[in-house]
Amino acid sequence: MNIHEHQAKDLFAAAGIPVPRGRVAHTPAEAREIARELNAKVVVKAQVHAGGRGKAGGIQLAATPEEAEAKAKAILGMEIKGLPVKRVLVAEQLDIEHEHYLGIVLDRARKRPVVMASAAGGIDIEEVARTAPEKIVRCHVDPLAGLHPFEAREICFTIERRGEVAQRMAPILNRLADLYRRVDASLAEINPLVVARDGQVWALDAKVVLDDNALYRHPELEALREDEDPNEAAARRMGLSYIRLDGEIGCVVNGAGLAMATMDVIKAYGGTPANFLDIGGSSNPDKVLTAMDILASDRKVKAIFFNIFGGITRTDDVAQGIAQALAKRKPRVPIVIRLTGTNEERAREILSGIGLTSTTSMDEGVKQAIAQAREGRAAPAAGGRR
Ligand code: GDP
Ligand code: MN
Repeated sequence: MNIHEHQAKDLFAAAGIPVPRGRVAHTPAEAREIARELNAKVVVKAQVHAGGRGKAGGIQLAATPEEAEAKAKAILGMEIKGLPVKRVLVAEQLDIEHEHYLGIVLDRARKRPVVMASAAGGIDIEEVARTAPEKIVRCHVDPLAGLHPFEAREICFTIERRGEVAQRMAPILNRLADLYRRVDASLAEINPLVVARDGQVWALDAKVVLDDNALYRHPELEALREDEDPNEAAARRMGLSYIRLDGEIGCVVNGAGLAMATMDVIKAYGGTPANFLDIGGSSNPDKVLTAMDILASDRKVKAIFFNIFGGITRTDDVAQGIAQALAKRKPRVPIVIRLTGTNEERAREILSGIGLTSTTSMDEGVKQAIAQAREGRAAPAAGGRR
């Protein structure tokens, strides 16, 4: 789960990581009021679940409350990477001397968190990793002991030459690592960690991604959920695992492993998957309907591919679910069904009863789906029939 910068900064502040004073505004007038309260030059920052806000014009400086109001008005009307800006953070401006990077993520290969630090902060860290990997210091964290203070000092003294500044950075890194572990984050990042002209150190930006699988342990963090993608919200309510990608073939699959394999096979035959979607072992027509609605709302989707392997799942149940879902609503794109396993003869009868054919071969199904998607792309007006 993603949370906004201002929410992550609240977590930082509670953990003892210094953040500039500020508050969230929903209207330009509120932004002016906050700037007046802060009684300082401010920065107005779009709160959206996307990085690179600065480059997109979503971060602007303002010298007066009136200017803060005008900047907030402009930013509140923006879309950043397709996301409408509904709130802005109005925070005290800092006089920046240097921008560092501090982050901690899970290294799946090493099965432990890894701290990354760099003096080349402020910009896209993936870019630094690509073009100048030697500028990033890495340190794996013992999951039982946590990040030792001596390790944090060593890292900070590597990226920051001035002893007294590095001394201020080290406890911030320890607190970041503790926070990462305490909230079950999959990412905790300060980019930039700013050294101000007076030598003080501040988290100017804050990014925390929470591990969905651990959220049940943190009801207070669950309450931070905001601006969720409507399709992801619908999927979550229905108990579907859904991840949007940007291809043309919408996939509805029972089982996460098969869903991964389906995306691989689509790619192998030259197609592009529009999503990962695991409907689980379920035949619930509402789940099938939700899945089809989600996929059909994505304008890039040119065909929907069902890939059902019946083991414990009875394929006739799934076919029934598809039939009921189609009776309620016809999708705007063609449907291709691959279905095999328990009760498949019965399943085929049900499907042919509503004019749908299916194949038992995954390769065959994928090839058909790709062909249908190509046709749909060539003649979009003809979509919805097969
Ligand atoms: P991001 O673009 O979404 O990562 O947003 P950031 O919060 O990291 O801000 C991007 C950049 O805006 C920073 O790297 C700074 O250069 C600049 N910026 C943000 N806040 C301030 C501020 O208070 N003062 C100054 N001078 N620049 C700022
Ligand atoms: Mn940033």
